[in-house]
Amino acid sequence: MLLIREATHLNFGHLAAHQPYWLQFVQIVIMADFLAYWFHRCLHQVPFLWRLHRVHHTSEQMDWLVNVHLHPVDKILGDCFQFIPIFLMGFSTVPLFIYTIFLAFQGFLNHSNVNVNFGPLRFVFASPVFHHWHHCNHPEYYNKNFAPHLAIFDLLFGTAHIPDGNAMPERYGVPDDLPKDFLGQMICPVKSPLWVEPSTSEAPKDRVERV
Ligand SMILES: [Zn+2]
Ligand SMILES: [Zn+2]
Repeated sequence: MLLIREATHLNFGHLAAHQPYWLQFVQIVIMADFLAYWFHRCLHQVPFLWRLHRVHHTSEQMDWLVNVHLHPVDKILGDCFQFIPIFLMGFSTVPLFIYTIFLAFQGFLNHSNVNVNFGPLRFVFASPVFHHWHHCNHPEYYNKNFAPHLAIFDLLFGTAHIPDGNAMPERYGVPDDLPKDFLGQMICPVKSPLWVEPSTSEAPKDRVERV
C-alpha cells in the first residue's frame, strides 16, 4: 500500500495527517470498513463480480488460508476501491502501516478454524464466528456479514447475522459445481463473455434476492 502510494503520489495535501495517529487509525478503520462493506455487497449482487468472488466462497472448510483464496481480479478491484480513497485523504505513514498489520491479522483470524465471537463485543467487531456465517452454505443466511472489521455497518444496513451463542454453520461453500483446481478457478469467471448473463447455476438468484 505504502509503495503504491509513493509511486502514484496519491497523497493529496496530507489532509488527515495533522491529527493524532490513534485518531487517524480509527478513521482509516471506519472508512476502510464502510468502503469494503459496499464493495463486498456488490461482489455478491453483480453477476460478473459474483463469478469472481465465488472463488473465495468455494472452500468447504474454514481455515486461515481461505483469507487469501481469492481470484486476483477480485483482490485488485477490492483493494483499488478500498484504498484509493484512503490514499487521497492523505493519512500519515505510521497509522497506514499499523492498519495494514491490523487488516492482515483480522483477515487471517476471521477465516481461522476457531469458534470465537468476542462476547458482548461481537456487536461492534467482526469476529471469526461473524465471518464464518458469511461463508455458510445455508441459503437462509446467504448475504450476511459483509464487513471485514466492524459489525456496525451490517447492523446499520440490515445484513447482520449475529447468533446469541457461539453457533457455527454446519456447511460452507457454494451450491455450484465449480472446478477445484487452481487453473480452473482462475479461468471459470471469464469462461463465458462478460456481457452474457451468467446461467442460474453461475449466479444463484437467492443470493441476489435475499440482500
Ligand atoms: Zn463474500
Ligand atoms: Zn471470507
